[in-house]
Amino acid sequence: MSKVTEYFGSKVFNDAVMRERLPKETYKAIQRTIKDGKRLDSETATVVASVMKDWAVENGATHFTHWFQPMTGVTAEKHDSFISPAADGRAIMEFSGKELIKGEPDASSFPSGGLRATFEARGYTAWDATSYAFIKEDVLCIPTVFISYSGEALDQKTALLRSMEAINKQSLRVLRLFGNTEARSVKSNVGPEQEYFLITREMFDRRKDLIYTGRTLYGARPPKGQELDDHYFGTIKARVADFMKEVDTELWKMGVLSKTEHNEVAPAQHEVACIYNTSNISCDHNQITMEVLQKVAKKHGLVCLLHEKPFAGVNGSGKHNNWSISTDTGMNLLEPGDTPYENAQFLLFLCAVIKAVDEYQDLLRISVSSAANDNRLGGNEAPPAIMSMFIGSDLSEILEAIEKDESFDSREKDVIKVGVHTIPKFSKDATDRNRTSPFAFTGNKFEFRMPGSNVSLSCANTVINTAVAQVLMEFADELEGAEDFEKSLHELIQKTYREHKRIIFNGDGYDDSWVKEAESRGLLNLKNTPEALPHLLDPKNIKLYETHGVYSETELKARYHVLMENYCKVLNIEALTMLDMANKDILPAMSKYTTVLAQACTEKSIVAANIDRVYEKETLRKLTATMTAMYKQSRKLEKDLLDAKSITDITALGNFYKDVILQDMKELRIPADEMEMIASSEYWPYPSYGEMLFSVR
Ligand code: ADP
Ligand code: MG
Repeated sequence: MSKVTEYFGSKVFNDAVMRERLPKETYKAIQRTIKDGKRLDSETATVVASVMKDWAVENGATHFTHWFQPMTGVTAEKHDSFISPAADGRAIMEFSGKELIKGEPDASSFPSGGLRATFEARGYTAWDATSYAFIKEDVLCIPTVFISYSGEALDQKTALLRSMEAINKQSLRVLRLFGNTEARSVKSNVGPEQEYFLITREMFDRRKDLIYTGRTLYGARPPKGQELDDHYFGTIKARVADFMKEVDTELWKMGVLSKTEHNEVAPAQHEVACIYNTSNISCDHNQITMEVLQKVAKKHGLVCLLHEKPFAGVNGSGKHNNWSISTDTGMNLLEPGDTPYENAQFLLFLCAVIKAVDEYQDLLRISVSSAANDNRLGGNEAPPAIMSMFIGSDLSEILEAIEKDESFDSREKDVIKVGVHTIPKFSKDATDRNRTSPFAFTGNKFEFRMPGSNVSLSCANTVINTAVAQVLMEFADELEGAEDFEKSLHELIQKTYREHKRIIFNGDGYDDSWVKEAESRGLLNLKNTPEALPHLLDPKNIKLYETHGVYSETELKARYHVLMENYCKVLNIEALTMLDMANKDILPAMSKYTTVLAQACTEKSIVAANIDRVYEKETLRKLTATMTAMYKQSRKLEKDLLDAKSITDITALGNFYKDVILQDMKELRIPADEMEMIASSEYWPYPSYGEMLFSVR
């Protein structure tokens, strides 16, 4: 393989390729589209399409697809070949401007939450020219948005792009107040850290629950888990290293900047982090990353588990979302500056994020809600799903001093005045980091740690961008009319901090006492998806999204429906899988094993009447009693699933799945896990947790 620098981005129709291949005028036009969001005219599109097709064909592509992210979270593609019949019976490769900009997939089966009646089932895809086209396995993939006939968002990207525009607009207003006339645009950036598990294909194939649901629904705790912490950052096994190397190579070819790979806390758990990029590009790249992880794993005889909680009792997988905003002139707006003025600007943006996170806690929580992530967040063994922020002790002290009109350092007499005094330099000490905070300031960016490993990051970033845009808008409204800018600025920071500092918590977010403390501060604790989702339709949230043109009320209602329905469907599949495993595998296997034990008792008694049969007898007794309990519980689950069928209201159904079905499932698991602990492994129908977690050697 040639040098990395040579093959990096070799499958991307990126700026370098465009500059080299497009006529000058076309290149300029496309730049205007990318940088300033100017609409692409059909002549330019025709030229771009033709050049793009030639490039793709030269690089082995035979098909193209409009690559989009429906509300289900995964990516969707429908391949069309470039082939077109020629008059002489041969074929030519064709791709028109129209095909590039707009697609019309027959996509009536994607969830729309009622946005499309069946008679108008058409959805349209439209090219997002700000995210480069790329080749994936001989298919030219064109990143697109997916909208309904009447323009409503049916995907994840549309809202993200709209939210990026909102934060761009409001950030620029604030920057102008600080005398910045150079910046022409402000972008939000994302750097994702993706966690996942690797197990062998052989183990995976023997677990129906992993195959159907992505997580284990039964499984006793292994003798060794993560208690020794010997896996975290440990030596990477040769087989895993080979896998990671190939993942990197594939990602680099597609221009994805994967940077670090390491082992995570749990056995078999790993992480790949990519260098940050513009939000929509990073979100696209993360979708590609997840796909590449799974494909490459398969080639190596492995399976990559992206589920948020594949194994109960073992750490789950998340996806840290590192977020910042920066200008086209390269200024990171979350980077503390050197001069009083720069510092004042930084503090204002910092306060905007603080207020945004506090006021829209519910939306941030919703952006990471799913049946799967509920197992990892707010569940029994997981950290509470309470939103809070970590800003570190230095920044807290500075803001406290400003709020109280005190000096920062007791040796100094001066009280801190924003924009007048140089705020003391605070350290960016990495040890100061709080690993348990769901929303942590890490020097020049925020790290949102609640997203699950399997979600599209578009949702979380849409919320962050829109919420911060809203607060910046309020700030700009207030400051634009100020008579004394510095005074107003100082007061605004004071007031914002005072009103929203309840969201700041620099302590241990995993500690039980935090739940009580958070409650007394009036912070939300939305424990699960059905509890969180209804807040999506709170008037304040509808207003937020409508103000910035990110979602209409209709779109939000549709989204609510899709998300709640998805929750119910996931639990339904899990429940059916549990029943299938109980009825067809576990109970029959235990029936067989207990027969063997009974036979052993009889045969031993033939040898001598008083021979010890304690093990056989007691195990037999315990197993039979547990089998009965399991059988009864499976009947109950079956009955409750039938009851669910008669519930038509989606909110009621969601709550029924949470309160009844999920509890039934928990109850059903208990006897199974008990039996696994005492039954002979020869008779247990599935690989154990230990076998799976330590399968890659
Ligand atoms: P960690 O200790 O959490 O691994 P790193 O500094 O390595 O922290 O960064 C983690 C992620 O944060 C990477 O994806 C990195 O690209 C991203 N990141 C760094 N700076 C920024 C920034 N200004 N905006 C957004 N993401 C960033
Ligand atoms: Mg991190």
